Amino acid sequence: KASRARYVRFQTQHREELQRRQRIEEELRRVLDTDTDQLEIHYQPIVSTADGTLVGLESLLRWHHPELGSISPTEFIPLAEGSNLIDRVGNYVLETAAAEVAAVPELRRVMLCINVSRRELTNGQFPERLRETMTRSGMDPAAFCLEITESALDPLDGDLLTLLGNVRELGTQVSLDDFGTGASSLSEFYRLPVSVLKTAKSFVDALDEHPSAKSILAGIVTMAHAAGMRVVAEGVETESQAAIVAEVGCDLAQGYHFGRPAPLAEVIASGVRIRAN
Ligand code: C2E
Ligand code: CA
Ligand code: CA
Repeated sequence: KASRARYVRFQTQHREELQRRQRIEEELRRVLDTDTDQLEIHYQPIVSTADGTLVGLESLLRWHHPELGSISPTEFIPLAEGSNLIDRVGNYVLETAAAEVAAVPELRRVMLCINVSRRELTNGQFPERLRETMTRSGMDPAAFCLEITESALDPLDGDLLTLLGNVRELGTQVSLDDFGTGASSLSEFYRLPVSVLKTAKSFVDALDEHPSAKSILAGIVTMAHAAGMRVVAEGVETESQAAIVAEVGCDLAQGYHFGRPAPLAEVIASGVRIRAN
Protein backbone atom coordinates (compact mmCIF):
# COMPACT_ATOMS: atom_id res chain seq x y z
CA LYS A 1 0.00 0.00 0.00
CA ALA A 2 2.74 2.39 1.02
CA SER A 3 4.72 1.86 -2.13
CA ARG A 4 1.60 2.26 -4.25
CA ALA A 5 0.82 5.57 -2.51
CA ARG A 6 4.40 6.69 -3.15
CA TYR A 7 4.06 5.77 -6.79
CA VAL A 8 0.82 7.74 -7.17
CA ARG A 9 2.46 10.73 -5.48
CA PHE A 10 5.42 10.44 -7.84
CA GLN A 11 3.12 10.26 -10.86
CA THR A 12 1.11 13.28 -9.76
CA GLN A 13 4.24 15.30 -9.15
CA HIS A 14 5.66 14.29 -12.50
CA ARG A 15 2.45 15.29 -14.27
CA GLU A 16 2.35 18.65 -12.50
CA GLU A 17 5.95 19.40 -13.45
CA LEU A 18 5.25 18.50 -17.05
CA GLN A 19 2.16 20.72 -17.07
CA ARG A 20 4.09 23.65 -15.62
CA ARG A 21 6.82 23.27 -18.23
CA GLN A 22 4.24 23.23 -21.02
CA ARG A 23 2.46 26.25 -19.58
CA ILE A 24 5.69 28.24 -19.26
CA GLU A 25 6.67 27.41 -22.81
CA GLU A 26 3.26 28.51 -24.15
CA GLU A 27 3.29 31.67 -22.07
CA LEU A 28 6.83 32.53 -23.15
CA ARG A 29 5.84 32.18 -26.79
CA ARG A 30 2.86 34.46 -26.19
CA VAL A 31 4.97 37.02 -24.33
CA LEU A 32 7.48 37.15 -27.17
CA ASP A 33 4.66 37.53 -29.73
CA THR A 34 2.58 40.16 -28.02
CA ASP A 35 3.54 41.16 -24.51
CA THR A 36 7.23 41.78 -23.89
CA ASP A 37 6.16 44.21 -21.12
CA GLN A 38 6.34 41.20 -18.80
CA LEU A 39 10.07 41.00 -19.47
CA GLU A 40 12.64 43.26 -17.91
CA ILE A 41 16.40 43.32 -17.98
CA HIS A 42 18.28 43.72 -14.76
CA TYR A 43 21.93 44.69 -14.67
CA GLN A 44 24.51 43.64 -12.13
CA PRO A 45 27.69 45.69 -11.58
CA ILE A 46 31.09 44.21 -12.36
CA VAL A 47 33.71 46.29 -10.57
CA SER A 48 37.46 46.71 -10.64
CA THR A 49 39.13 45.08 -7.63
CA ALA A 50 41.79 47.81 -7.78
CA ASP A 51 39.55 50.80 -7.16
CA GLY A 52 35.94 49.59 -6.97
CA THR A 53 34.83 51.49 -10.08
CA LEU A 54 32.20 50.09 -12.43
CA VAL A 55 33.80 48.29 -15.36
CA GLY A 56 30.91 46.19 -16.65
CA LEU A 57 27.24 45.33 -16.36
CA GLU A 58 25.87 41.82 -16.78
CA SER A 59 22.37 41.72 -18.23
CA LEU A 60 20.11 39.21 -16.49
CA LEU A 61 16.63 38.61 -17.80
CA ARG A 62 13.60 38.85 -15.51
CA TRP A 63 10.08 37.65 -16.25
CA HIS A 64 7.13 38.72 -14.19
CA HIS A 65 3.97 36.84 -15.14
CA PRO A 66 0.61 38.23 -13.90
CA GLU A 67 -0.59 34.79 -12.71
CA LEU A 68 2.54 32.71 -12.26
CA GLY A 69 4.51 35.48 -10.56
CA SER A 70 8.25 35.87 -11.05
CA ILE A 71 9.71 33.03 -13.06
CA SER A 72 13.44 32.47 -12.65
CA PRO A 73 15.70 32.40 -15.71
CA THR A 74 17.09 29.16 -14.32
CA GLU A 75 13.64 27.73 -15.07
CA PHE A 76 12.63 29.39 -18.35
CA ILE A 77 16.00 29.69 -20.14
CA PRO A 78 16.54 25.91 -20.31
CA LEU A 79 12.94 25.53 -21.57
CA ALA A 80 13.57 28.19 -24.21
CA GLU A 81 16.76 26.38 -25.20
CA GLY A 82 14.82 23.19 -25.70
CA SER A 83 12.05 24.74 -27.78
CA ASN A 84 13.50 27.08 -30.41
CA LEU A 85 12.45 30.11 -28.40
CA ILE A 86 15.98 30.86 -27.25
CA ASP A 87 16.83 32.77 -30.45
CA ARG A 88 13.94 35.12 -29.84
CA VAL A 89 14.75 35.49 -26.15
CA GLY A 90 18.38 36.19 -27.02
CA ASN A 91 17.38 38.71 -29.67
CA TYR A 92 15.17 40.52 -27.21
CA VAL A 93 17.93 40.73 -24.60
CA LEU A 94 20.62 41.81 -27.06
CA GLU A 95 18.46 44.51 -28.68
CA THR A 96 16.94 45.82 -25.46
CA ALA A 97 20.11 45.82 -23.37
CA ALA A 98 22.11 47.54 -26.13
CA ALA A 99 19.42 50.20 -26.56
CA GLU A 100 19.07 50.82 -22.81
CA VAL A 101 22.80 51.07 -22.15
CA ALA A 102 23.51 53.12 -25.28
CA ALA A 103 20.94 55.68 -24.08
CA VAL A 104 23.11 56.53 -21.04
CA PRO A 105 26.17 58.55 -22.13
CA GLU A 106 28.07 57.91 -18.84
CA LEU A 107 28.05 54.18 -19.63
CA ARG A 108 29.93 54.61 -22.89
CA ARG A 109 33.07 53.00 -21.45
CA VAL A 110 31.28 50.26 -19.56
CA MET A 111 31.35 46.70 -20.87
CA LEU A 112 27.89 45.20 -21.50
CA CYS A 113 27.93 41.48 -20.77
CA ILE A 114 25.25 39.37 -22.40
CA ASN A 115 24.59 35.69 -21.70
CA VAL A 116 24.44 33.61 -24.85
CA SER A 117 23.56 29.95 -25.09
CA ARG A 118 25.27 27.55 -27.44
CA ARG A 119 22.09 26.99 -29.42
CA GLU A 120 21.82 30.72 -30.13
CA LEU A 121 25.47 31.12 -30.96
CA THR A 122 25.37 28.29 -33.50
CA ASN A 123 22.07 29.16 -35.22
CA GLY A 124 23.90 30.39 -38.31
CA GLN A 125 22.86 34.04 -37.98
CA PHE A 126 24.50 35.06 -34.76
CA PRO A 127 27.55 37.08 -35.90
CA GLU A 128 25.40 38.96 -38.42
CA ARG A 129 22.74 39.73 -35.83
CA LEU A 130 25.39 40.93 -33.41
CA ARG A 131 26.89 43.21 -36.04
CA GLU A 132 23.47 44.69 -36.82
CA THR A 133 22.73 45.33 -33.16
CA MET A 134 26.06 47.04 -32.66
CA THR A 135 25.51 49.26 -35.67
CA ARG A 136 21.96 50.14 -34.63
CA SER A 137 22.87 50.98 -31.06
CA GLY A 138 26.00 52.87 -32.09
CA MET A 139 27.92 50.98 -29.44
CA ASP A 140 31.58 50.16 -29.77
CA PRO A 141 31.95 46.40 -30.49
CA ALA A 142 34.64 46.23 -27.81
CA ALA A 143 32.03 47.35 -25.27
CA PHE A 144 30.15 44.07 -25.77
CA CYS A 145 31.11 40.92 -23.97
CA LEU A 146 29.36 37.64 -24.70
CA GLU A 147 29.21 35.28 -21.74
CA ILE A 148 29.28 31.63 -22.68
CA THR A 149 29.36 28.95 -20.04
CA GLU A 150 32.22 26.52 -19.99
CA SER A 151 29.76 23.63 -20.41
CA ALA A 152 28.23 25.30 -23.51
CA LEU A 153 31.66 25.12 -25.16
CA ASP A 154 31.74 21.35 -24.83
CA PRO A 155 32.38 19.85 -27.35
CA LEU A 156 34.72 22.53 -28.61
CA ASP A 157 34.63 21.59 -32.25
CA GLY A 158 36.17 23.41 -35.20
CA ASP A 159 32.91 25.11 -36.19
CA LEU A 160 32.46 26.59 -32.75
CA LEU A 161 36.07 27.82 -32.66
CA THR A 162 35.59 29.49 -36.05
CA LEU A 163 32.39 31.10 -34.86
CA LEU A 164 34.01 32.46 -31.71
CA GLY A 165 36.89 33.67 -33.86
CA ASN A 166 34.38 35.53 -36.10
CA VAL A 167 32.80 37.15 -33.08
CA ARG A 168 36.21 38.23 -31.77
CA GLU A 169 37.06 39.68 -35.18
CA LEU A 170 34.12 42.04 -34.82
CA GLY A 171 36.01 43.37 -31.81
CA THR A 172 33.60 41.86 -29.30
CA GLN A 173 34.89 40.25 -26.15
CA VAL A 174 34.00 36.73 -25.11
CA SER A 175 33.94 35.52 -21.55
CA LEU A 176 34.05 31.98 -20.26
CA ASP A 177 31.28 31.83 -17.65
CA ASP A 178 31.06 29.50 -14.65
CA PHE A 179 34.63 28.36 -15.19
CA GLY A 180 35.38 25.25 -13.18
CA THR A 181 31.95 23.64 -13.50
CA GLY A 182 32.34 22.28 -17.02
CA ALA A 183 34.76 19.68 -18.21
CA SER A 184 36.97 21.79 -20.43
CA SER A 185 40.31 20.23 -20.96
CA LEU A 186 43.11 22.33 -19.52
CA SER A 187 45.44 21.21 -22.29
CA GLU A 188 43.11 23.02 -24.74
CA PHE A 189 42.87 26.12 -22.60
CA TYR A 190 45.26 28.25 -24.66
CA ARG A 191 43.15 27.63 -27.78
CA LEU A 192 40.07 29.33 -26.39
CA PRO A 193 39.34 32.63 -28.13
CA VAL A 194 38.29 34.10 -24.83
CA SER A 195 39.30 37.42 -23.25
CA VAL A 196 37.63 37.13 -19.86
CA LEU A 197 37.32 34.20 -17.45
CA LYS A 198 34.56 34.19 -14.82
CA THR A 199 35.17 31.76 -12.01
CA ALA A 200 32.18 29.72 -10.85
CA LYS A 201 30.60 31.02 -7.66
CA SER A 202 31.65 27.84 -5.84
CA PHE A 203 35.30 29.01 -5.81
CA VAL A 204 34.37 32.15 -3.89
CA ASP A 205 31.96 30.22 -1.63
CA ALA A 206 34.78 27.84 -0.71
CA LEU A 207 37.06 30.68 0.48
CA ASP A 208 35.39 30.74 3.89
CA GLU A 209 35.57 26.99 4.41
CA HIS A 210 38.51 25.35 2.70
CA PRO A 211 42.09 26.34 3.48
CA SER A 212 43.22 25.42 -0.05
CA ALA A 213 40.51 27.44 -1.83
CA LYS A 214 42.55 30.64 -1.88
CA SER A 215 45.53 28.94 -3.50
CA ILE A 216 43.29 27.29 -6.08
CA LEU A 217 41.77 30.64 -7.01
CA ALA A 218 45.26 32.14 -7.20
CA GLY A 219 46.27 29.30 -9.51
CA ILE A 220 43.32 29.95 -11.83
CA VAL A 221 44.29 33.64 -11.96
CA THR A 222 47.90 32.76 -12.89
CA MET A 223 46.70 30.40 -15.60
CA ALA A 224 44.19 32.88 -17.05
CA HIS A 225 46.69 35.74 -17.03
CA ALA A 226 49.22 33.52 -18.81
CA ALA A 227 46.59 33.01 -21.53
CA GLY A 228 46.00 36.78 -21.72
CA MET A 229 42.60 36.69 -20.04
CA ARG A 230 41.18 38.96 -17.35
CA VAL A 231 39.52 37.25 -14.40
CA VAL A 232 36.14 38.06 -12.85
CA ALA A 233 35.35 36.56 -9.45
CA GLU A 234 31.63 35.87 -9.38
CA GLY A 235 29.34 35.60 -6.38
CA VAL A 236 31.28 37.83 -3.95
CA GLU A 237 28.94 38.35 -1.02
CA THR A 238 31.14 39.55 1.85
CA GLU A 239 33.86 42.07 2.61
CA SER A 240 36.35 39.30 3.43
CA GLN A 241 35.68 37.51 0.13
CA ALA A 242 36.15 40.83 -1.68
CA ALA A 243 39.51 41.32 0.04
CA ILE A 244 40.72 37.81 -0.85
CA VAL A 245 39.71 37.93 -4.53
CA ALA A 246 41.58 41.23 -4.84
CA GLU A 247 44.60 39.80 -3.01
CA VAL A 248 44.90 36.75 -5.29
CA GLY A 249 44.82 38.98 -8.36
CA CYS A 250 41.28 38.73 -9.76
CA ASP A 251 40.96 41.82 -11.96
CA LEU A 252 37.23 42.23 -11.55
CA ALA A 253 34.54 41.15 -9.12
CA GLN A 254 30.79 40.73 -9.11
CA GLY A 255 28.30 39.76 -6.45
CA TYR A 256 25.75 40.96 -3.93
CA HIS A 257 28.55 42.66 -1.95
CA PHE A 258 29.00 45.13 -4.81
CA GLY A 259 25.41 45.26 -6.05
CA ARG A 260 22.45 43.07 -6.86
CA PRO A 261 20.97 42.87 -10.34
CA ALA A 262 18.51 45.77 -10.76
CA PRO A 263 16.91 47.90 -13.46
CA LEU A 264 19.47 50.16 -15.13
CA ALA A 265 18.14 53.37 -13.59
CA GLU A 266 18.51 51.87 -10.11
CA VAL A 267 22.06 50.73 -10.73
CA ILE A 268 23.00 54.24 -11.85
CA ALA A 269 21.18 55.81 -8.90
CA SER A 270 22.92 53.43 -6.46
CA GLY A 271 25.96 55.68 -6.48
CA VAL A 272 28.36 53.15 -8.00
CA ARG A 273 31.38 55.06 -9.34
CA ILE A 274 31.55 54.80 -13.11
CA ARG A 275 35.02 54.58 -14.55
CA ALA A 276 35.76 57.80 -16.37
CA ASN A 277 38.07 57.73 -19.39
P1 C2E B 1 24.79 33.34 -14.58
O1 C2E B 1 25.07 33.87 -15.95
O2 C2E B 1 25.86 32.56 -13.93
O3 C2E B 1 24.39 34.61 -13.71
C1 C2E B 1 24.74 34.78 -12.36
C2 C2E B 1 23.58 34.44 -11.44
O4 C2E B 1 24.02 34.57 -10.09
C3 C2E B 1 22.39 35.39 -11.56
O5 C2E B 1 21.23 34.64 -11.29
C4 C2E B 1 22.67 36.41 -10.46
O6 C2E B 1 21.50 37.07 -10.02
C5 C2E B 1 23.23 35.51 -9.39
N1 C2E B 1 24.15 36.22 -8.47
C6 C2E B 1 24.92 37.29 -8.72
N2 C2E B 1 25.65 37.62 -7.64
C7 C2E B 1 25.33 36.75 -6.66
C8 C2E B 1 25.75 36.58 -5.29
O7 C2E B 1 26.57 37.32 -4.75
N3 C2E B 1 25.18 35.54 -4.60
C9 C2E B 1 24.26 34.71 -5.17
N4 C2E B 1 23.75 33.73 -4.42
N5 C2E B 1 23.84 34.83 -6.46
C10 C2E B 1 24.38 35.84 -7.19
P2 C2E B 1 19.92 34.77 -12.19
O8 C2E B 1 19.72 36.21 -12.56
O9 C2E B 1 18.84 34.04 -11.50
O10 C2E B 1 20.31 34.02 -13.53
C11 C2E B 1 20.53 32.65 -13.52
C12 C2E B 1 21.09 32.15 -14.83
O11 C2E B 1 20.13 32.30 -15.88
C13 C2E B 1 22.31 32.93 -15.30
O12 C2E B 1 23.45 32.45 -14.61
C14 C2E B 1 22.31 32.59 -16.78
O13 C2E B 1 22.88 31.33 -17.01
C15 C2E B 1 20.82 32.51 -17.09
N6 C2E B 1 20.38 33.77 -17.72
C16 C2E B 1 19.91 34.90 -17.16
N7 C2E B 1 19.59 35.82 -18.10
C17 C2E B 1 19.89 35.24 -19.30
C18 C2E B 1 19.80 35.68 -20.68
O14 C2E B 1 19.43 36.81 -21.00
N8 C2E B 1 20.17 34.75 -21.65
C19 C2E B 1 20.65 33.52 -21.33
N9 C2E B 1 21.00 32.69 -22.34
N10 C2E B 1 20.75 33.09 -20.05
C20 C2E B 1 20.38 33.93 -19.05
CA1 CA C 1 26.65 34.97 -16.88
CA1 CA D 1 28.08 32.82 -14.02
